[in-house]
Amino acid sequence: MQIRRLSPALGAEVTDIDVANISDSQFETLRQAWNDAEGFLVLRAQTLEPEEHVAFARRFGPLFGEADQFQESVLKNLLPGQPALYRVSNKKDAKGEPLGRERAGTYWHSDVSFRREPAQASLLHGIEVPDNGGDTMFASLSKAYAALSDAMQRLLGTLDAIRYEGGEVDFAATADVDRAVNAARQAFETWRDTPLTRRQNVMFAFREQISTRRMDLARTLSAEHGKTIDDALGEVQRGLEVVEFACNIAHLLKGNYSEQVSTAIDTYTIRQPLGVVAGITPFNFPAMVPMWMYPIAIACGNTFVLKPSEKDPSTSQLAAEMLAEAGLPDGVFNVVHGDKVAVDGLLTHPDVAAISFVGSTPIARYIYETGTAHGKRVQALGGAKNHMVVLPDADMDLAADAAVSAGYGSAGERCMAISVVLAVGDAADTLLPKVQERIDDLTIAPGDTAGAEMGPLVTQAHLDRVLGYVDAGENEGATLVADGRGFSVEGYENGFFMGPTLFDNVRPDMSIYRDEIFGPVLSLVRTDSYADAVKLINDNQYGNGTAVFTNDGGAARKFQNEIQVGMVGINVPIPVPLAFYSFGGWKDSIFGSHAIYGPDGVHFYTRQKAIISRWPDPVHRGVDLGFPRYDN
Ligand code: NAD
Repeated sequence: MQIRRLSPALGAEVTDIDVANISDSQFETLRQAWNDAEGFLVLRAQTLEPEEHVAFARRFGPLFGEADQFQESVLKNLLPGQPALYRVSNKKDAKGEPLGRERAGTYWHSDVSFRREPAQASLLHGIEVPDNGGDTMFASLSKAYAALSDAMQRLLGTLDAIRYEGGEVDFAATADVDRAVNAARQAFETWRDTPLTRRQNVMFAFREQISTRRMDLARTLSAEHGKTIDDALGEVQRGLEVVEFACNIAHLLKGNYSEQVSTAIDTYTIRQPLGVVAGITPFNFPAMVPMWMYPIAIACGNTFVLKPSEKDPSTSQLAAEMLAEAGLPDGVFNVVHGDKVAVDGLLTHPDVAAISFVGSTPIARYIYETGTAHGKRVQALGGAKNHMVVLPDADMDLAADAAVSAGYGSAGERCMAISVVLAVGDAADTLLPKVQERIDDLTIAPGDTAGAEMGPLVTQAHLDRVLGYVDAGENEGATLVADGRGFSVEGYENGFFMGPTLFDNVRPDMSIYRDEIFGPVLSLVRTDSYADAVKLINDNQYGNGTAVFTNDGGAARKFQNEIQVGMVGINVPIPVPLAFYSFGGWKDSIFGSHAIYGPDGVHFYTRQKAIISRWPDPVHRGVDLGFPRYDN
């Protein structure tokens, strides 16, 4: 039996471990390490016989507490070949009390979930290893729990079977994509005709799953992405809101009906699902951005293939588990991990009807062009360079709070992050020291550290890229007010951390102004007038989000009217619409005519059909070769 441990955040390795050979004393060491650590562990058993599950539970139970917590009775009822998921957690609150669903008096909890049918092509990805002869276990161990991780590695390092690899998941080949699309195509035959109320009920159950396990989702995505747990919980919440929107799908799919448009003729419209739709998502919101897509697509009656970012893949796995537990039939939601090969497989697949994409602009353009060339409906949301205008009459404390929150939250890795502050007139002189003060107070630490406000960047390559921009800004003559280079966090010296960086006197010709940096680098541009600020924004390639800070209602109203950007904040730095509106930028921040989620989401994932109906009627007037007029 093997355990595969995946913790790519902060550059950790993937490890295969032969747990069958662990001795009792080694167990004891692990147990001690577990007691001393705080965290969670997910073990996924792919294709074990029921007895093997029970044996495993008995052996591992003592490591985490009592064996019966692994729900032996559930395990015994598994069918041969059914996979099971073991989750254990010993996270404590500030008083040392167990958090979440832990049982009273114990410091951990376990849970077993399983799919009712043997796994099909619906969960294809590198972390669950299919077709392996029945002896592969997968374990996802949060990087944050370094104490346990280190102890495990020290302990297990003595075993022959240990193997280190780079921090990667296995990427799907074209054949894997075909399997997933085929599973989705077959599932569509029944899912499209599954009663609306039943589809809605699955969404309600999914909503409960997310509510109950939001901490699991947050921890998983924080461990892989690096963002703070608080921020991750916020992300989960915003995704959950789209699920709640999808719970109301029956109302959203109503058509129109006009009686007697002509003699004995009625007209009505219905909205029908498209078929198999695919979602391709970026690394920066591994829970929320996929949830912008699949809850609505699935509730509308489509089946879905998700290709999440290869940089933080596990959250999608958890979502798949939750959907299965919510009663979603196999094949309706599918996950395929991978890179361009997997993406191209979806873009060109004849059975994929539509593609939703969120990511950078060059890839969004490619997705739109390739997808539409293959006859698909495509919505492709791209990158951004969001400006925040601060007028001289603004509340400068509010503006400084906003600039720092929106500039450095999630280490600047948000498509709605503020990356440029346009300070009009003398606003900069008051604003700059206030921003600086707030930057100095920021706590930068691993995402699950209490009090952490900013975590690491997602990968070493991305960190290098962002640091390169800091060098470039300095060389191009901007004034470096806060330098985030050379920053490290004690105990995580190899982590992908950098400090918040602030440039003043940035000019539009500099690369730090022109390019989307996607890191904790904020540029202050001084403009003489409101008109200059608006011109800069309107001339920009991107048009995702923008904000104006002012106490002048007339100025704000003028701004909202003339600004060439899709989402506008008035004294609000990150204007992300709630789930019942739609999200989307303008210009090179979007390709295709549908924004994402909300009413546009329902329209994107359905096609309207108009029906003109006449039932046999005595006034039938015989053959008429004229074009139908409906005016009598
Ligand atoms: P990315 O474009 O590199 O990757 C997005 C997806 O495309 C991933 O699933 C990736 O595997 C895939 N991909 C990457 N290269 C590809 C290629 N050559 N061919 C086919 N597929 C490819 O984006 P990212 O770095 O993961 O995310 C950050 C970007 O996403 C930023 O530009 C950010 O602004 C943008 N973003 C936009 C929004 C929005 O709503 N507009 C939201 C979140 C993120």
